[in-house]
This record gives sequence, C-alpha cells and structure tokens, in this order.
Amino acid sequence: RTVYVNGSYLPETEAHVSIFDRGFLFADGVYEVTLVLGGKLVDFAAHLHRLHRSLNELRIAPPVSDDDLLDIHRALIRQNQIDEGLIYLQVTRGAADRDFLFPDAATPRTLVLFTQKKAILNNPVAERGQRVITIEDLRWRRCDIKTVQLLYPSLAKMEAKSRGADDAWLVRDGFVTEGTSNNAYIVTRNGTIVTRDLSTDILHGVTRHSVLQCAHDLQLKVEERPFAVGEIGEAAEAFTTSSSGLVNPVVEIDGATIGDGNPGPIAKRLRHIYIQRSRDTAI
Ligand code: PLP
Repeated sequence: RTVYVNGSYLPETEAHVSIFDRGFLFADGVYEVTLVLGGKLVDFAAHLHRLHRSLNELRIAPPVSDDDLLDIHRALIRQNQIDEGLIYLQVTRGAADRDFLFPDAATPRTLVLFTQKKAILNNPVAERGQRVITIEDLRWRRCDIKTVQLLYPSLAKMEAKSRGADDAWLVRDGFVTEGTSNNAYIVTRNGTIVTRDLSTDILHGVTRHSVLQCAHDLQLKVEERPFAVGEIGEAAEAFTTSSSGLVNPVVEIDGATIGDGNPGPIAKRLRHIYIQRSRDTAI
C-alpha cells in the first residue's frame, strides 16, 4: 500500500513520523475520514470544510492548499486502486521538544494520508441491525473538534464488544450525545426522526448533514434535539450515520429490542437514498 507523508508517496513500511510529533505525545492533531465509492470521493467539500474548522479551533495552520489535498486523495485512490473504501487524513501540529506550550507557528505540520480498501455497501451488520449499549459520555467537552484523541470511544467500543454488542451510545445527563464513531437517531412511533442538535457535545457529522437533507427531500419529519435514554425503548426504530457505516440500523439497546427487532423502514429507505445521492454527487 502506498501512503502519503509530508510531500512524499511511499510504501507504508517506509513512512515515518518523529517520536516528538505532538500528535503522538499530546494527541495534538485532527483527522478526517472520507468515503470512496466507485473510486470517487463522497462529500469531499464538507470534509474539507470541517477539517478547516477543526484546525482553526486548535490554531493549527493548514499544511497544504485544498487543491493539493484533493490531488493527494485522488493520487492515493489511483495508486492503491480503491474502488470502495475509506481515505484517512491526519494533520498534527508537528514535531517539537516536548512542552505543553505550542511550538513556533512556523514548525512544519505533519500531514499523513492512507487508504483502506473496505466493503462499505455490503455490510452484514447493517443487514441484521446493530446491537448497542449505553455508556456514560466521559469525553472532553469539545466533541465538535475532530481530534485524534479517541481513547474514550475506543474503550467504550471495547466494552460494547465484551458485552456482546456492536457499539455504544454515549449518554450525558440522561440524554444520548452520539455513538462512539457515529451520530445517533431514533424514529418515534409517529414517524419523526430525532437526533441531537449541533453543539460542542457532538461531532458535526458530514453524513448527518447529508442524511438530514435526504430526509427533508423525502418530506420526513425531523426534530434536532437531545433524546433521553428512556425514549429509545419507546421508539419505532433507531439508526446511526457515519462515513464508514452510512445509515446503519440499530435494533437493540441495552438488551431490549427496538420496534420489531428488525432494521426499520425509514432507516432502510434513508440508507438506500443516501447511497444513491452519494454515487451521484461523488467527485
Ligand atoms: N461522531 C463521532 C464521534 C465520530 O467519530 C464520527 C465519525 O468518525 C461521526 C460522528 C460521524 O461523522 P461523519 O458522518 O462525518 O463520518
């Protein structure tokens, strides 16, 4: 596999980053994961927009131009022959002697990209529906910044796995914030889609934005507000959204069945429409 690191395309075994890199020492970096379908990038402009927002919040200067980022993504798709999968991009504040204070702004940032060939459309978990558990959301309070600080969600997903579930939904003050690496939704018995409103409590998902647009086009009712854990058991269906999972039905919460225990019609419809829309608009 060819990867990109700081201006070079290299075999993955030859790519290196300094042990003094602040991404390694302080999790001082941000990332994006873009979906590739049919060899093309889905919602790339939205990923770039969010990358700039994350960088800006952390006062990290962009390492290269947006045109260069697009070129690098396309070069890796070509070189690694990615038809379906993901491209991971990470920017860190770069390498400097270890200090809590930021180094000089002129310190070169680290830019790394790699590809993952992956079956995205054919997903057995999406076919049967995810089993989810709830776990207290103990992440830091700037979940809107896509930092590489992923240890808590990683622990939460391990806990889900050890309890025989697929993922965890994180809960703050009795209300769901989001999944470990996805946004969370319920559909009420009267057909209203409910997902937490945008704030510093959640990542502003690129897929969330597109799927809510699809819901709007289908004239489905949407409420952007926090929903309580108690509302999930009462819901007709539930699902998550993310670049790697698309629209992914949820059929069980903390061992209790949601709806009839099968992926719900609204989640299935949104998944279908979202895939169509992604194919049509990918670049
Ligand atoms: N929420 C969290 C915490 C995430 O890590 C992710 C994706 O990695 C998402 C939501 C979904 O975001 P997107 O739809 O942009 O992939």
